[in-house]
Amino acid sequence: MYGAIGTTIIQGALLVAAIVVGGQVTGFWLESALAVISVALVISVWRRNQFYEWLQHPSDRPMTRVPGLWFDMTKRVQLREQAIVRERMQVQELLANLHQSLGSLDAGLISLTRAWKIRWWNDTASELLGLRHQFDEDASLFNLVRTPELARFVEKGQFDDPIVLASPFRSGRTLEYAVCPVTDSGYLLVVRDVTRFSRLERMRRDFVSNVSHELKTPLTVIKGYLETILDNQLVSDRGVRAVEQAFKQADRMASLIQDLLLLSQLETTKPQNQLLPVRFSDLIDHAHQDGEEFAKALGKPKTQIMIDNQSTLSFPGVWHELASAVTNLTNNAIRYSPDGATIHLGTRESDTKVQLYVSDNGPGILPEHLPRLTERFYRVDNSHSPATGGTGLGLAIVKHILLRHEASLDIQSTPGKGSTFTCEFPRHPFIVGD
Ligand code: ADP
Repeated sequence: MYGAIGTTIIQGALLVAAIVVGGQVTGFWLESALAVISVALVISVWRRNQFYEWLQHPSDRPMTRVPGLWFDMTKRVQLREQAIVRERMQVQELLANLHQSLGSLDAGLISLTRAWKIRWWNDTASELLGLRHQFDEDASLFNLVRTPELARFVEKGQFDDPIVLASPFRSGRTLEYAVCPVTDSGYLLVVRDVTRFSRLERMRRDFVSNVSHELKTPLTVIKGYLETILDNQLVSDRGVRAVEQAFKQADRMASLIQDLLLLSQLETTKPQNQLLPVRFSDLIDHAHQDGEEFAKALGKPKTQIMIDNQSTLSFPGVWHELASAVTNLTNNAIRYSPDGATIHLGTRESDTKVQLYVSDNGPGILPEHLPRLTERFYRVDNSHSPATGGTGLGLAIVKHILLRHEASLDIQSTPGKGSTFTCEFPRHPFIVGD
């Protein structure tokens, strides 16, 4: 009420007054002063003890109703206590709302520690993975979700893309797992049931593969007849050009079908079990030879292909797949660069990966196209597609081949300066030198 200083002054004045009155009445000044100070001290200690006890149960009863410093302090503590209780209730309400909202999500959420121990999860996660609240808290994720592929995915520590796996809990269901690192505290695992999407995806793949198969035979027959007509000069001069055009288009269609079948095979089958060591230098030599012939056939004889390779390493892989990927990148560099361009094929090694790059000083690619280049049929400039002779599937095939080898494709490009396509292989324990 009067503040700490005011109260102290009043109490001091009362003390002095009591001593003066005592001294005046008794005539013993020293004794009166000692007696008054002792009483004041006893009262102060008694009040302090009372306050201490009250602090242990502050909201039960008021400590004192007598205005003064103790009353003031009690009031302040009470007000602070009430504010804390109010805030706690608000936080609890917010948490309850959050839990309810997270529970109604159609994605399973699991909060994990840095050691992959389960901290908390929502109802959808219980449904999808069979987690039980009373038993599974603090258990290791991999003891409950016994899927070796998930353990390997986590071990790799690359969480940019989710992983899609068969449900360990319900047969016939497919789950997608995405891991989001949460600063220093651990991870959030987001699990979604993608059975419907993966069924549709499989239908799409089967459809493309079946249509390609069905088209392959009639097209081979058409090409055969056109070839016979041309070889045996069965049409007049005026018809030759039309038949030549028809043959060219049929040939293009055959390449398309071949690429579509290759892509669907890459998507639907697992790489062979028996992977053999593939030397990076052999891949580069093969692409070099193939590229020189391709450049001549394309009418770009001045194209130079330079080799910057020192590597003697090998990678466990499927030779014909990896060779076709590197050749594809080299041929693209030749195809999209003008005659006289310089193309570099080489390797770079670090502790964690080996990179095989194909770089050119061609026209380059605008940044907005880069993320979409590996999509099927994505072309930077559609108007050039018949002239360049590509199918629009080349980079999609390269990406899938690399994925099957646990490798990835990185694309860097500067418009007007050129592009670099880099195949990044993990520094596998199986990569060996000569
Ligand atoms: P395509 O059969 O059309 O070559 P790709 O999938 O191989 O299909 O390539 C996709 C597109 O990427 C190409 O159409 C082209 O526009 C662009 N591209 C690929 N490689 C290069 C390169 N080295 N320089 C410039 N553009 C390129």
